[in-house]
Amino acid sequence: MARIVMKFGGTSMAGTERIRRVANIVRAQAAKGDQVAVVVSAMAGETDRLVNFCREANPLYDPAEYDVVVASGEQVTSGLLALTLQALGCKARSWLGWQLPIHTIEAHAKARVESIDSNVLIASLEAGEIAVIPGFQGLSEDNRVTTLGRGGSDTSAVAVAAAIKADRCDIYTDVDGVYTTDPRIVAKARKQKAVTYEEMLELASVGAKVLQTRSVGLAMKEKVRVQVLSSFIGEGAPPADDLPGTMIVSDEEMDDLVEKGLMERQLVTGIAHDKNEAKVILTRVPDRPGAVANIFEPLAAASINVDMIIQNVGRDKGETDVTFTVPQSDLARAQALLEDRRDAIGFNRIITDSKIAKISVVGVGMKSHAGVASSMFRALSERGINIQAISTSEIKISVMIDEDETELAVRVLHTAYGLDAVS
Ligand code: ADP
Ligand code: ASP
Ligand code: MG
Repeated sequence: MARIVMKFGGTSMAGTERIRRVANIVRAQAAKGDQVAVVVSAMAGETDRLVNFCREANPLYDPAEYDVVVASGEQVTSGLLALTLQALGCKARSWLGWQLPIHTIEAHAKARVESIDSNVLIASLEAGEIAVIPGFQGLSEDNRVTTLGRGGSDTSAVAVAAAIKADRCDIYTDVDGVYTTDPRIVAKARKQKAVTYEEMLELASVGAKVLQTRSVGLAMKEKVRVQVLSSFIGEGAPPADDLPGTMIVSDEEMDDLVEKGLMERQLVTGIAHDKNEAKVILTRVPDRPGAVANIFEPLAAASINVDMIIQNVGRDKGETDVTFTVPQSDLARAQALLEDRRDAIGFNRIITDSKIAKISVVGVGMKSHAGVASSMFRALSERGINIQAISTSEIKISVMIDEDETELAVRVLHTAYGLDAVS
């Protein structure tokens, strides 16, 4: 007997027919004698629809009320899956975020899970009941509904797995594993048998949305075994224990797989893109100590994450332009905050541009090999793609480019690093 958390994403839950397919997969796992907790997303497109309602109601919406609205999508699917499982003769019930509860910090729309009261959940599993838990939602200390940021059901699943000490957390989605890049953009992307936590963390943080970044960080910290696999499988498909998904593994396990010839060591593990950032340029900022702090302190205080930052070379009059990126969803708030402080910061204009994309190449091989960045710049320049900003970490290089060139850039780099599958 194993204890398994099964998470199903939006495409897998989109409509009663698909929910029935999910229910069958869950029933098969439970029929093996395993204890099963299921975490579900809202139906595909539903969260976007709810976010739009919030924007229409009030462009500078209160994140606490936004959470009340957007958390509702998962309430619907968790109830529907419990109903469908019951129709198949399984004992199942839903547990909403506030009922368990899943305690989170108060940062609405981007809350972090602090703890989950797992006793009732474990008791229910031990009584042979399938627990269906809406992903994405939690409860703040002051008793208000919170959500974990877009894609947050992955994190709910890993948090539940850690809390109930599950043997595995299976993330069922609409692709059958983690690929060298988004297989919807590059047809020649290759599926990986295994990816290390560190690489997956970096890939997720730069836009490979197959797993939410926080879910990978949490899995790494809590040592949760995570597998990514497809929910679009036929009736007679093998159980998840034997399915060829992608396993997220420790460095030691990866060394083992390489030694056994099951994985190849690659310089670049994957390429990711992110179209959800926006560029902000503040012109003619005073070129003196404290000026940049005046810009970024209010953004940090408002929990707005700034990513790439460039401070241009100062002009003659002791002024400089400062360029940076923020999530598009925070752009309106960032702009309003900076406008409010125009005099204190002392800038001239705010120019914003949402039509940018960040392309990143990730691989632990970069720690020990030079030349990965220069190959990237060369490959992009040969296709006439202009780089507007660059940032790096130990195992990643990112560039900011025009959004229209995203797909081309990803394809070019995938080929340049020798990642294309041989057909
Ligand atoms: P879910 O609704 O199941 O949570 P998501 O849409 O959040 O699914 O994530 C799955 C999607 O992630 C895939 O459909 C794919 O387009 C995208 N994706 C991006 N990068 C990768 C990658 N490297 N490997 C696999 N899928 C990726
Ligand atoms: N429904 C939420 C979203 O679309 C959470 C999730 O699906 O993971 O972001
Ligand atoms: Mg997702």
